[in-house]
Amino acid sequence: MDDPVDSGKPSASAAERWWSKVGKVITWPPSDGLGAPALQTPAVGPAAPAAPSMVPTTGWAFVTCMDTRVDVARLFGDLGPGDAHVIRNAGGIVTDDTIRSLAISQRAGRTDAVFVVHHTDCAMTTFTDVELADRLERESGVRPTWVAGTFSNTEDDVRRSVEKLRASPFLPHVESVRGFVCDVHTGVLREVEGLGTEGPSASFAGAATGQAMWGGWW
Ligand SMILES: [Zn+2]
Repeated sequence: MDDPVDSGKPSASAAERWWSKVGKVITWPPSDGLGAPALQTPAVGPAAPAAPSMVPTTGWAFVTCMDTRVDVARLFGDLGPGDAHVIRNAGGIVTDDTIRSLAISQRAGRTDAVFVVHHTDCAMTTFTDVELADRLERESGVRPTWVAGTFSNTEDDVRRSVEKLRASPFLPHVESVRGFVCDVHTGVLREVEGLGTEGPSASFAGAATGQAMWGGWW
């Protein structure tokens, strides 16, 4: 197998691209001797309208991959600031930290629906946990204590993720955990079968009313 786990570090050109995107022109390398661009407020245009509160208006929380091609805001409607929690990691897998975020989301954020969204062409299907651990150990001399959580079958991993969330003792709202796969080449979003949630479901209806369920979140 080719070595897909590229350990390339951010380059100066990457930093320049970022700064040019936010409208700030700098020279690189920086001349301040600090090894970093001078921190200034970038020109990013008018600020977005302020969201009313920390409580997402839809009552939804997404668990999805960090892949840039998965645009949950577009896939699930015209979501904007204030509308939904989005928890991202490599693969969109369910880890202890995912459950930590959701446990807080369902209390402080009053969300009551969770959508797991995996996608086609995911990097997590291109290497194994052992291959990554071996490489990191080879490069650093230290074997990671964590597991990458790679998978070979995307749909199966969605099912595993949904079942793991439904079994969590820390999530009071598991009746509306649903699983999807996004095709990053066609933009089509498809619900994974076999989870008992396919098709139109009343579970969406409760989402927007979740805000009324909690007087105070603690
Ligand atoms: Zn991915």
